[in-house]
Amino acid sequence: MRCLVSLMFFALCGCSTDSQRPLAGEVETQKLVNQSDLVPPSPPVTDQWTVAIQPLGKSLPADTVELVRRALVTFYGVKIIMLPNIPLPKALYFKPRNRYSASGILELLAQKKPTQAEKILGLTAVDIYHANERSPHWGVLGLGSMDGSSCVISIRRARIQNKITAKAKQRFAKTAVHEIGHTLNLPHCETKGCLMEDAQGRVSTTDGEYVLCPRCRQKLRASGRVIPDNPTPPWPKPN
Ligand SMILES: [Zn+2]
Ligand SMILES: [Zn+2]
Repeated sequence: MRCLVSLMFFALCGCSTDSQRPLAGEVETQKLVNQSDLVPPSPPVTDQWTVAIQPLGKSLPADTVELVRRALVTFYGVKIIMLPNIPLPKALYFKPRNRYSASGILELLAQKKPTQAEKILGLTAVDIYHANERSPHWGVLGLGSMDGSSCVISIRRARIQNKITAKAKQRFAKTAVHEIGHTLNLPHCETKGCLMEDAQGRVSTTDGEYVLCPRCRQKLRASGRVIPDNPTPPWPKPN
């Protein structure tokens, strides 16, 4: 883990190899008959929170974005705000490896987050990097700040033979659940098949993932999150 900016450390999500070989509660207004009818106002229902989805750069297929939205709603019960596409700043581009700085994108996203959203998730088709012990420009599937507000995912390394296949879309949406999990302070999980598994540098790890395991769900609940019971994943159960 490494300190960046002033506030956070980042949990890295694994990647394929480097390219060289790599509710508001209804607040009822009550008509009071008399003073004895005074009741305290209902507290706001805080079960539902909001994630903003920010597309970055070249547009992704609509069904790919829709799968990400469904995955987040399924596992976290969130409300989604879709933001209009914005370009990626040239300053974040690292030409020698043809990829963009994921940590730079997180800073950009933090500025773009609407006040009503608790988290913001960037979606992009370009390759993104983050430094690790193997390379200062290690290509990653996604990056999320632990207990932070921003995360980003790229479909570039989820593709199969350079195509956005059904499985590639599922990898991408699973990574969205994973990175939002990091922003909810979930660390990597050792439970095989859990969406919080560490990809360990292999994009194929996501193919074996299915749900958030009971331990991860319990951590979320212990932190005060209200999450849906018995979510049905929008992808098939791995063999
Ligand atoms: Zn991770
Ligand atoms: Zn888990």
